[in-house]
Amino acid sequence: MNRRELITTTPALIATLGTAISSQSPVDLVIRGGRAVVPEGIFRVDIAIQGGKIVALGDSSAMPAARKVIDARDRYVLPGLIDSHVHFNTPFRGMKTRDDFYTGSIAAAFGGVTTYIDFAIQPKGRDLLSVIKDRRAEADPQTVVDYSLHMLVTDPTPIALEQLADVIASGMPSVKVFMAFGREGLMIDDGAILEIMRIVQQNNGIIAVHTENNAIAERLSDEYERTGKTAAAYYPETRPRYVELEAIRRALFYARLTGVRYYGFHLTIAEGVEEFRQARSEGLPIFTETCTHYLVLTEDVYRQPDGANYVCSPPLRTRADVEALWRGIQDGVISTVTADHTAWDLAQKQIGGGTYVGIPHGLPGIELRLPVLYTEGVVPGRISFPRLVDLLSTSLAKIWGFYPQKGSLAPGADADIVLFDPDAQWMVDPSHLHMPVDWSPYAGRTLRGRITEVISAGEVVIEGRQFRGKRGRGRFIRRSLDGVRFTR
Ligand SMILES: [Zn+2]
Repeated sequence: MNRRELITTTPALIATLGTAISSQSPVDLVIRGGRAVVPEGIFRVDIAIQGGKIVALGDSSAMPAARKVIDARDRYVLPGLIDSHVHFNTPFRGMKTRDDFYTGSIAAAFGGVTTYIDFAIQPKGRDLLSVIKDRRAEADPQTVVDYSLHMLVTDPTPIALEQLADVIASGMPSVKVFMAFGREGLMIDDGAILEIMRIVQQNNGIIAVHTENNAIAERLSDEYERTGKTAAAYYPETRPRYVELEAIRRALFYARLTGVRYYGFHLTIAEGVEEFRQARSEGLPIFTETCTHYLVLTEDVYRQPDGANYVCSPPLRTRADVEALWRGIQDGVISTVTADHTAWDLAQKQIGGGTYVGIPHGLPGIELRLPVLYTEGVVPGRISFPRLVDLLSTSLAKIWGFYPQKGSLAPGADADIVLFDPDAQWMVDPSHLHMPVDWSPYAGRTLRGRITEVISAGEVVIEGRQFRGKRGRGRFIRRSLDGVRFTR
C-alpha cells in the first residue's frame, strides 16, 4: 500500500504547526515523533494535549514542556476509533450477551475504540424518553470510554412517534428500525418505517435500517426446521441473499421517497453494493457499512463442526461477496466498517446442540476490528492506512454527528488517540482477549500490527497491555447533524 503513504504536510497542518500556546505552563501530554494517520494522509507530527483536548500539532520543540511524553517514533498515531454497531448487555431469545457496559467498554478500549454507539431498545408499549433514561442509567456508571445510543423503535405508538423529535434534539439523531426479527419483537411494518423516515427527515436525523425480508426468512426457517435441515451448514439457506437484497431495495425506495439521511446496517452481498453505488451516484445522503466478519470470513465456516458459533444475520456469504465488499470500500460506496459486536459465549452458541435453531445471532469483535482489517486490508494493499482510518473513525464521526469533536486529530478535538505498532505480529488467543467470552471467530489467526496505547479524553487508558482507566469515566456524548452537509 505504501504507494499512497506519503509523509507530507498539508496546508491545514501548516496552519497549526508551531501553534503558540499562550500559557508557558506545561501541557498534560505530548506524543512525540509519531506518524499521524488521517484520511488525508500520513504526517510526522508531534501532538500536544491539555485538558482532555488536542491543543497543538507540530514540532514539539516549539511547544511548552509536558508533564508526560510518549515517544511514538516507531508507531502510527490514529484518531480514536468509533464503533457505531455495538450490543452490550443485550437480550435476544431469552438470553443476554455476556458483557455489560464496563467489561464491554474495556474490550472496546483494548480495540482502540474510544467512542461507541450502543442501542436504546424500546420494549413494547414504552415511551422513548424513559427507555433512554434507563439505558443511560445502565451505561453512565459503567462505561470507561465515551459513548452514545441509537434509538431503536420497536413499537411505533402515537406517543413514541411524537417523542422522536425530542429524542433527536436531545443529542441522539439516529433512529434504527428492523425489517426482520418479527417473532423476536423487533420488526415494525413498512407503514411505520415510512412514517418514521418522514419524521427523522423533518428533524434532521438519520435513519438506520436492518434490511432482511422478515416473511421470507421466517417461512424458510420454518420449512427447514420441519424437514430436519437444522445443521449449521443449512443456516445460510434460511436467509438467502435475495432476502437481504429485496429489503435493501425496499428500504432505499422509501429513503428516496422521503429524502431522509439513510444508513444501511451490515451490507453483505455484491448485488447490495450495486444498489448503494446507484443511490450514491444520484447524490443522495445514503450510506452503508459492512462489518469486519463479512470482509474476512465466508459461509464455508458453517460446514465446520463449530459452524453454529458463526450464526449471524445476515449470514456470512461467498468469497465473491467478500471481494465485492472490498471493491465497494475501495470505490467509496461503503463508508464505514463496524464490528456489530455481540458477545455470546460457547454455551449460548451451542444451546441448539450444534444446530442453528433458537441460538443467538452475532459475533464478538469489538476488540479485533483494527488489527484484523489492518492485516486483511492494509498489509495486502487492498486499501491504504488513511482509508482504513476513515472507515473506522472519521467517516463514522461525520455520519453520526460527532465530527469534529471526534474522528479528527485537529486542535480542539477530544484527545482520543490510538498508538499502533505496525511491525508487531501476534496470534489471536481468545484467552488473552478482554471480551468476556471463551472463543473468537479469528482464533489462531496471525495478525499484523498491535495497539500499544489508547488515550481517551487525554487520559492514557491502555498502556502496555494494561487497562488504567476507571469505571464510569466515559461520557455520554451529545450528537447533532444540524448544519451538516453531506457532499456525497
Ligand atoms: Zn447488530
